Amino acid sequence: MTGSDALLTTLRSVVTDGHVLTDHDAMAGYLTDWTGRWTGSADAVVRPRTTDEVAAIVSACADAGATLWLQGGNTGLVGGSVPPAAADNPAPRVVLSTSRMVDIDEVDTVGRCVGVQAGATIDQIDRAAGECGLAFPVDLASRESATAGGVVATNAGGVRMIRHGNTRRQVLGIEAVLADGRVLRRWTSLVKDNVGYDLPGLLAGSEGTLAVITRVLFRLVASPAETVVTVAAVRHVEDIFTLLDTMAERGLTVEAAEIMTEAGLDLVHDHGVRRPVAATAPFYTLIEVSGTGDIEEVVVGVLDEADVVDGVLEPGPARDLWASREQHTEAISRSSVTPVVKLDVSVPIRALPEALAELGAVADLVDHPCRPILFGHVGDGNIHVNLLDVPEDRVEELTGRVFGIVAANGGSISAEHGIGRAKVPWTGLGRSEVDLAAMRAIKAALDPDGRFNPGVIFG
Ligand SMILES: Cc1cc2nc3c(=O)[nH]c(=O)nc-3n(C[C@H](O)[C@H](O)[C@H](O)COP(=O)(O)OP(=O)(O)OC[C@H]3O[C@@H](n4cnc5c(N)ncnc54)[C@H](O)[C@@H]3O)c2cc1C
Repeated sequence: MTGSDALLTTLRSVVTDGHVLTDHDAMAGYLTDWTGRWTGSADAVVRPRTTDEVAAIVSACADAGATLWLQGGNTGLVGGSVPPAAADNPAPRVVLSTSRMVDIDEVDTVGRCVGVQAGATIDQIDRAAGECGLAFPVDLASRESATAGGVVATNAGGVRMIRHGNTRRQVLGIEAVLADGRVLRRWTSLVKDNVGYDLPGLLAGSEGTLAVITRVLFRLVASPAETVVTVAAVRHVEDIFTLLDTMAERGLTVEAAEIMTEAGLDLVHDHGVRRPVAATAPFYTLIEVSGTGDIEEVVVGVLDEADVVDGVLEPGPARDLWASREQHTEAISRSSVTPVVKLDVSVPIRALPEALAELGAVADLVDHPCRPILFGHVGDGNIHVNLLDVPEDRVEELTGRVFGIVAANGGSISAEHGIGRAKVPWTGLGRSEVDLAAMRAIKAALDPDGRFNPGVIFG
């Protein structure tokens, strides 16, 4: 019996036969990421149901010298959730999927929090909160697949970030299995608790390199009583800033603020989504606001006074208006003849007009096909740069061009998706040597054998 066979036998004894997949077809969906750019191989995909099972799997893998790739909804866009193609290293390779870890505890309506298993999806958590008049403060277009463990591990931003902050801010407690199989549990709804290091905060954004997150205690927020969603066509990015400032001055709370371009809206329309406004303009913004009184009248007043080309509004949730923004990722993927190069960057808000202009013209800097489509979370200075039709052998050059523009504008090469395997060569643009050495020291302390997600963040 080989080491790999012995490990598979142990894994089957932990989760039963049906949840250790080894058949090529059965594993396929777990071995290619959402973008189709990252695909790999593994000896098995294992699907535990409980924290104890995760601990037993990690211990068995440690004993067998196996490496583990951690996977939630597999919607990450930087190649962090799937293993690479088979390497010379003969160590067994296992994908641990949290797809069966979907329990959601009873919502604590007084403490405004809820405990969930790592595999519960964002949509499921928000629905549970909604039944109690509360809301989950993290929201993103991948909500029906992205999981609690995934959004914590990537410290996801999303469309409510401008209002409530990133996922790290929503984590009150965490349970995670360490690389030696021990269970770390920091589980308290206390608002104030300063006993040493913020380990839940450290695991947020760790991209599966430090521990397997098995359960999360999330903060919940009150649902806004009434919201209005507007889409406005504007000539300049600065016009969006003016709209946002005026809405705040008139007492409205900005719940979301997104930016799209004519090229993106056109593409989404070609894929069957109704154009929200008839007029065309270089930029479009979708802004969702909440408030008291007749907020629709206030928004109409703001649009009338502003220098917008065209504008519409609807009471929330205004799913049709949101579709024009949320369908971008899908439409872009379907339209490109090569896997889309997806670069998720941020710049200081004041640099946004210049950076958008330079990034929109990035195709002029290269002598091969490239269709840039930009959209993003304008209130956070976050631009999703999507490069379509790029030949595979030119991806690195183009990525370097984009990151050069971002660095020159004082920005970050990863606003919200993380580093994964896609951005490893460029981490030096965002972190100093000392900073990277401190991160490596943390990795070495918590995962000394490099068992979890090898190649992610550090290469
Ligand atoms: C249409 C679409 C829209 C998106 N919009 C946004 C957006 O607005 N904002 C944003 O931030 N992201 C967005 N994303 C990216 C993605 O949805 C997020 O990164 C999300 O947090 C990934 O969750 P997941 O469960 O799919 O994780 P996966 O893709 O499975 O994994 C992502 C990373 O987390 C690790 N991981 C997963 N589960 C665990 C666990 N239990 N323990 C430890 N590590 C774990 C993986 O190893 C991997 O490194 C979008 C993606 C799509 C397809």
